[in-house]
Amino acid sequence: MGKVSKFAVVGNPVAHSLSPQIHMEFAKQFNDSISYEKIEIPMGEFDDYVGDLISDGYKGINVTIPFKLDAFRCATKSSGNARQANAANTLKFEGNKILAENTDGTGFIKDLKGRLDFSLKNKNILILGAGGSVRGLLPVIMDEFPKKVSVANRSVQRAQQLADEFGIQSILYDETGSEKYDLIINATPTSLQNKTPLIAKDTFEDCTIAYDLVYSSTPTPFMTVAKEGGAQVASDGLGMLVEQAADSYNFWLGHRPETKSVYEYIRNLITQQ
Ligand code: NDP
Repeated sequence: MGKVSKFAVVGNPVAHSLSPQIHMEFAKQFNDSISYEKIEIPMGEFDDYVGDLISDGYKGINVTIPFKLDAFRCATKSSGNARQANAANTLKFEGNKILAENTDGTGFIKDLKGRLDFSLKNKNILILGAGGSVRGLLPVIMDEFPKKVSVANRSVQRAQQLADEFGIQSILYDETGSEKYDLIINATPTSLQNKTPLIAKDTFEDCTIAYDLVYSSTPTPFMTVAKEGGAQVASDGLGMLVEQAADSYNFWLGHRPETKSVYEYIRNLITQQ
């Protein structure tokens, strides 16, 4: 048996992460010999831990809340997507080099186009939230030639900053009812807090897809309101989670796993939990 390549997901908290199960399923497809752990890093200690992981022979890490900006900053080289997002969810270690990638946006688009068969070309899109994940999503969304993208956020200034950076529209939550949207993305953790989104139910009336980045064993509060409001399809973020992981795996090991069977495996796993 060949040498085991070591990987991990780091964050705080990280106990809930499904990344180990997903990556071990990927590895089976190629007979890759890997290990994959969850490592909780204390706040403010990201750089020290990365140094230790490199010394311990790790080949790469996935990075989750709240360290995606730190991951980008500590890299010696970054991809275009990571640079545009100013954030990285994947690091690859090669000798003394730390390579940064952001696969959140590509994972989201692959899930939308593949599993949900939805193209963003010429579509009117509303994004709720203006945090790290939206920074990862926007460069990739803009490459798909949407008709219009609007972003609404609790802190209005943050939405305006994204609007200025990406040439999109910033709107208030109160104003979202005045337009029809083909795609509404919830990029806030409101569903984790068991709260419904800050937009009126009828905003979903002509919506083809309502997509919650949060994933869950049962429909999230956002998905429930979206369906009641008239959205044709309401999806959680499990597909994005699997697709972004497959892009990370490809970045590390040079081959992209098949995702449909892994999505189904993880969906079953969380349903049984
Ligand atoms: P951030 O913490 O960077 O941003 C959170 C955003 O949500 C901010 O815009 C914040 O607004 C807003 N927000 C937080 N709480 C509330 C609230 N109670 N009401 C209204 N708005 C609120 O998080 P991320 O962008 O990284 O992640 C967002 C969600 O997406 C998380 O739940 C995360 O788990 C999920 N996610 C899922 C992925 C997947 O693969 N499926 C990948 C990445 C993220 P403000 O600016 O005002 O604070």
